[in-house]
Amino acid sequence: MVVLGIVGCATKVADHTKGRSSTCEVHEVAMEKKSLPIMYGLPDFNERTRARGAATGKRFPHAGIPLEGGCLVDAKNPKEALMLVCAECQRELREWNEAYDKEHGAPR
Ligand SMILES: [Zn+2]
Repeated sequence: MVVLGIVGCATKVADHTKGRSSTCEVHEVAMEKKSLPIMYGLPDFNERTRARGAATGKRFPHAGIPLEGGCLVDAKNPKEALMLVCAECQRELREWNEAYDKEHGAPR
């Protein structure tokens, strides 16, 4: 019987912390486990999200940016994800946002 692929959808919270190091590989600090909302529906892809996505992996991989769950909205899908969040990554994300807004104008 093949049940792989549906395991994990049965729970309300998706655990993204299993088997991951709890230390941020960029800042080398201990991270906190946090429940973050998963965004369903069409993601808002604009210049800002694209630029931020490009910077995320290198500068703030654990900033706790809400996950994109995809376009399929299903009551069985988890609403939240348990993720490891780094305080330094969050600080860098804030700085990135400020720097981007200064350069391109604040979002409306
Ligand atoms: Zn970090």
